[in-house]
Amino acid sequence: MRTRFAPSPTGPLHLGHAYSAILAHDMARAAGGTFLLRIEDTDTARARPEWEALIYEDLHWLGLDWPEPVLRQSDHLARYDAALDDLGRRGLIFPCSCTRADIRAALAAPQEGAMPTEGPYPGTCRHRLLSDRRDGDALRLDLGRAVAALGEDGPIGGFTETGPNHPGHHPLSAAGLAALHGDAVLGRKEIGTVSYALASVLDDATQGITHIIRGADLYEITFLQVLLQRLLDLPTPVYHHHRLIRDENGKRLAKRDDARAIRTYRDDGVRPEEIRRMVGLA
Ligand code: GLU
Repeated sequence: MRTRFAPSPTGPLHLGHAYSAILAHDMARAAGGTFLLRIEDTDTARARPEWEALIYEDLHWLGLDWPEPVLRQSDHLARYDAALDDLGRRGLIFPCSCTRADIRAALAAPQEGAMPTEGPYPGTCRHRLLSDRRDGDALRLDLGRAVAALGEDGPIGGFTETGPNHPGHHPLSAAGLAALHGDAVLGRKEIGTVSYALASVLDDATQGITHIIRGADLYEITFLQVLLQRLLDLPTPVYHHHRLIRDENGKRLAKRDDARAIRTYRDDGVRPEEIRRMVGLA
């Protein structure tokens, strides 16, 4: 068993991250397997070296260890680009200049905030050729062509989930993917950069990850990631989406939630064993 914790260095780790990392670590250790750490720093506008340094400190303090060297995604941009090229040669991606506001207007979505970040896309730029990509254009997957390229009549593969919320086998369907993700963004606006969904899938394969332990907030993107695995001929790991750690008001913790940052607990003299107890892993 090979598991990983794959934080983005865009803020301090909080109790939710501690839960995720400890769980992935403990599950690998219990099975005699390996736990890896991966730094997902492709969002160059938000990733900071000081947050990365703090990730190493916090995780070591929690008692976790992992093999070195740690894979840092910013060192592998050419490899992600090659995957985009591959999809491009097969006619499965197109350049898109739509802003979120454009997309909302095209869908006539009435209320602000109803639009998921990478959600269903009205197809405005779908006719555009990759060779016409302009600076500032994102790259989107042409979902219809991607599904057709796989040439399946029935379900387009699927994945096994072992987490508490949706345990079992989950087949992918064209309609389900269209409703959840549509033509998802795979290449970010800044040329040479890649979306989290694609980079993460490529590295799970590169690192031979067999079990993905992560928060329930990433359950839905799994359907897109499994589609990408099918398109790129990569193995599909087992997924385990764990419960989210919430504050006393039931709100899930966010990076800006400094009060629950692991560093704050450390500074306050809390012991690592107490963190385990606080997240229910004692
Ligand atoms: N880098 C992602 C995050 O910080 C997690 C990726 C994953 O576990 O698949 O939310």
